[in-house]
Amino acid sequence: MCHTPSVRTGELFDLLRDGRPWTRAQLAEATGLARSTVTMRIDTLIRLGLVAPYGGARSTGGRPPALFALNPSAKLVVGVDVGATHARAALTDLDGRILGEADAQIEVAAGPDEVLGWVIETVRDLVAGSGRKIDDLAAIGIGLPGPVEHSTGRPINPPIMPGWDRYDVPGHLRAVYPVPVLVDNDVNIMALGERRAFMREVDDLVLIKVATGIGAGIVTGGVLQRGARGTAGDLGHVRVRNNDDIVCRCGNTGCLEAVAAGPALAAAVRAQGEDAKTGGDVVDLVRGGSLVAMAVVRQAGRDIGEVVATMTNLINPSVVVIGGQLAGAGEHLLAGIRESVYQRSLPLATEHLRIVTSRAGGEAAVLGASALAIEHVLSPDVVEAASEALAAADAKAEAEAQRSL
Ligand SMILES: [Zn+2]
Repeated sequence: MCHTPSVRTGELFDLLRDGRPWTRAQLAEATGLARSTVTMRIDTLIRLGLVAPYGGARSTGGRPPALFALNPSAKLVVGVDVGATHARAALTDLDGRILGEADAQIEVAAGPDEVLGWVIETVRDLVAGSGRKIDDLAAIGIGLPGPVEHSTGRPINPPIMPGWDRYDVPGHLRAVYPVPVLVDNDVNIMALGERRAFMREVDDLVLIKVATGIGAGIVTGGVLQRGARGTAGDLGHVRVRNNDDIVCRCGNTGCLEAVAAGPALAAAVRAQGEDAKTGGDVVDLVRGGSLVAMAVVRQAGRDIGEVVATMTNLINPSVVVIGGQLAGAGEHLLAGIRESVYQRSLPLATEHLRIVTSRAGGEAAVLGASALAIEHVLSPDVVEAASEALAAADAKAEAEAQRSL
C-alpha cells in the first residue's frame, strides 16, 4: 500500500465535510498531495459511500466527474435525548437533517433496562419508517441527565438515575446494534445541538441550561470541552455572593443552583405569596405579567450572571446561550445576566459577546446527540480506519485471485 506522507484519506475527507463541492485540483492544492493520489483517495471515499459526485452528475464517456462533496445520505445516525421524565429520539442523515422522530413519557428512574429497551425498539422503528436498512445505521448518540464518563459511556453517580451508576450503556445497545454508541450528559449535547443547528460558524460558545439544576456545555476552538473527568461546566455548585445561609443539595452553602435554579425560584415566588411549584410555574407567572416573578427571575439572572462573568473572563466565549426551562422567561432572565456580566467582565471580553436564549429549544438535546454520533462517524480517524479496512479487503481479494490463476 502506498502512503504519501502527512495527509491521509481521513484528513482529505475532513476538507470535504464543509458540504461545498471541491475539484481534484483544489483538493491537491489544499493538501499538498499529488493529483493522482487525490484521485485514488477520492475513489476510496466514493466506494465507502461518504463522498459522491456533486449534483449527482455521473461520469460520462469515461471522463471522471469534476466536483465532489460529502454525501450526507450515505449513512444514518440516531440521536437520543433521555430526560428525567421523557425521552426523545431522532433519525438523521450525516448532515443532521431529521428523517423521523419519536417521543415517550418514560422515567429515567425506571432504570436502564426499561429506558434502553425503548431506545432499541425506537431505533428499529425509525429506521424501518424511513425505508432504509438497519445496515445503514452508522452510530447512536445519547444524552443522559447526569454525569457521564464519555470515554466509556458510563454514568457516574448520577443523582436522579437509580440503577444507572457505572452502567455499560454502549454495551447494552451494541448487543443489538453493532455500531459505535456515544454517550454524554444532556448539557454537553445541548451545546452541540445549538451549535450545529444555528451557529456552525461560532467556535467559542457556552450553553447554560437553567432548569431543575444549572450546568454548562463549553465549546472552545470548535471542540466540546469535557475536562479531565467529564465534569467541566458544572456551574451549579459555584458559590455566589450573599447566600451563605442557603444550603445546597450537595452539602455546601451558597451554590448557584440552590439560589437560581427552578426549585429555588419557585420557593422565592411562594415566599411572596404567589403560587408556584416548579420553575415552569415561575415562567408561566412571568409570561402572565407577575411583577413578583419578574423580580425573582431578574435576581436569578444577576446571580447566574456573576458566574457567567467569571467564566467570560476565563474562556472568552463569543456567544452565551441560555437554554433549559427557565430560558422561557426570556428577556427578564437575560437582562439580569447581562447586568452582572457587563459590570464584572473585562470590556474586551464583552465587546462582541452575545447573550441569547436557545433557538433550538426542546430540540437542542436530540440534535446534539445526533451531532455527537455524526462527529464520530465522520472523524478523520474513523474514516481512515474504514479506508484501511477496504484496502486490506482489496489486497486479500487480489491475493486470492492470484492463487486461483
Ligand atoms: Zn451545591
